[in-house]
Amino acid sequence: MLKSLMDILYPRRCAICGEIVSTRGAFACPDCKDKLTKINEPRCKKCSKPIESEEKEYCHDCEKKHFHYIKGFSMWVYDSNMKKSISDFKFHGRREYGDFYVHEVINRYKNEILNIKPDALIPIPIHRTKKVQRGYNQAEILAKGIGKELGIPVLANLLIRDKKTLPQKQLNDKERLKNLEKAFSFSNEVGETNRNILRKVILVDDIYTTGSTIEACTNILLCNKIEEVYFISICIGKGY
Ligand SMILES: [Zn+2]
Ligand SMILES: [Zn+2]
Repeated sequence: MLKSLMDILYPRRCAICGEIVSTRGAFACPDCKDKLTKINEPRCKKCSKPIESEEKEYCHDCEKKHFHYIKGFSMWVYDSNMKKSISDFKFHGRREYGDFYVHEVINRYKNEILNIKPDALIPIPIHRTKKVQRGYNQAEILAKGIGKELGIPVLANLLIRDKKTLPQKQLNDKERLKNLEKAFSFSNEVGETNRNILRKVILVDDIYTTGSTIEACTNILLCNKIEEVYFISICIGKGY
């Protein structure tokens, strides 16, 4: 009853167009959902970016660079619809859009995630000043939603975002990674408390573009005795 009352008081808005959803229990209008580009084959075997040809195994980035994570899963292409949705989710207080993303990720990747048998989900952290301003870390909302559905612990404070990075655009790949690695650190306290259970983890983020954030966090985790790192992102760029 409380739920129906909440539905009347705060009707759910579509995570894509922002209008009130007419179908009860839905997180988005069916038409809007159809507009999104799901990640399908052919896709990169490593990062899951869509690629042009079935004959290729990896996208351009994964062919060129040696990323240290094992594999990544992503839901949609980061196009104009998703750009707006994610931006409202992150910057305009639409944290309930997280329900839609989590629901879709579970529908699509439940088995893949469970097959990894992860010991924990690790959201990519944001700087604490940003978290205070925004009221939440969007990646943490996603990780907690997925963790709750699948019974996987979430360690939101294992990685810490220390400082703002230099604008990445002016840097080359190597500088970019170095710049980013300096921006994150590992919490020895959280790591120590969970030492015996942490072998495989899945990083969770909203967008994967060049892969440098995931790579920086992976390297930090691998340096701290975690053996296997995977990632889940809601959106991903195209691999061509
Ligand atoms: Zn809509
Ligand atoms: Zn790739």
